[in-house]
Amino acid sequence: MSPSPAPPEPRPQDRVVLMNPGPVNVSEEVRAALTLPDLCHREPEALALMQRIRRKTTRVCGGDDRYAAVLLAGSGTTALEAAFSSVVPADGRVLVIDNGHYGERLARILSVHGIAVEHLTFGWGTPVDPAVVERSLAGDPSLTHVALVHHETSTGMLNPLREIGAVTARHGRSLAVDAISSLGAEEFDLVADGVDWCVGTANKCLEGFPGVSFVVGARERLAALETVPARTFSLDLHRHFVAQEHDGVPLFTLPLQVMAAFDTALDLALREGTQQRHARYTALAERLRDGLAERGLALRLPPEHRASSLTAFALPDGMTYEELHDGLKAEGFVVYSTQARGEREFRLSTMGHITGEDITRFLSAYDRVVTQYAGAAL
Ligand SMILES: *Cc1c(COP(=O)(O)O)cnc(C)c1O
Repeated sequence: MSPSPAPPEPRPQDRVVLMNPGPVNVSEEVRAALTLPDLCHREPEALALMQRIRRKTTRVCGGDDRYAAVLLAGSGTTALEAAFSSVVPADGRVLVIDNGHYGERLARILSVHGIAVEHLTFGWGTPVDPAVVERSLAGDPSLTHVALVHHETSTGMLNPLREIGAVTARHGRSLAVDAISSLGAEEFDLVADGVDWCVGTANKCLEGFPGVSFVVGARERLAALETVPARTFSLDLHRHFVAQEHDGVPLFTLPLQVMAAFDTALDLALREGTQQRHARYTALAERLRDGLAERGLALRLPPEHRASSLTAFALPDGMTYEELHDGLKAEGFVVYSTQARGEREFRLSTMGHITGEDITRFLSAYDRVVTQYAGAAL
């Protein structure tokens, strides 16, 4: 397949900048890679594409030859559900660390599958205390797994993965991590962080299109899932692993066009590197944070807890979220609501193909929207 030339970048005034935390703006190279010749998912070209992505997603997580990825058609939640419904045995129990919407959601996913949960709630935007996790594990030998959201996208808080990994390993339990909004932009190393199961998706900090997600774990542990009875038919991680790893053929149809774009996105992510991408997102986020703080908006979290890619801000005085959203949408910027019920708050993400010029234009657009609103209210 010869790569088609990248189409020109849209003019700034025609561009819609996605400041929601995924799906993200993609680069023109990634968009161009969507256009594949029609292809059967069981032909050698498709199988080679699947294996390339399996290797690259494993690398993005810091996995070496002992680790393998399982690809799934679907959004990040599909991969979360595949992982959690497949890795916990019938007599297993999961300590769910919850300090926001996505932690709450993990507990709900487990409950749907009838899996026993110990729900450890810290409160939205409250830092996770590894000592409390340690006490829970020490006091309850029936807990077999720990579930953690790395970047809690509801508040923009980055949770202490390394510390939780160390505590979990010290107590001989398994750690499963929702790294959906951190992989690619936050430091993450399966081996050093002691992660047994890592869940990720194409369309957040890895800067691909939505439609494909993945679970990465040690080959040995994936093979050992044979003894865990499946709770679902289509999300049975062990069957997917055997099909992809040993038969070399996906169990079901995979979204090949989205995967071709993801393959290119992974090349770009690996070439840029997590540290550089972290620095790029942080620089953009800092311009937003400084710009909006100067304009009087409070930030939800102190700097030491912030992820690089997302910030929660208080709404400007008097304005509703819908008024702010619709004003900015008309200017070509998509902002994101809060998931915290009753909070006067909104969120801005800098993940994806966003430029410094986009941020400059955003701040001017923000000024116009707020000024117009104030003028209309007089
Ligand atoms: C976005 C997100 C999800 C859900 O991903 P979908 O692709 O919408 O299913 C899960 N967890 C976290 C932390 C997220 O940011």
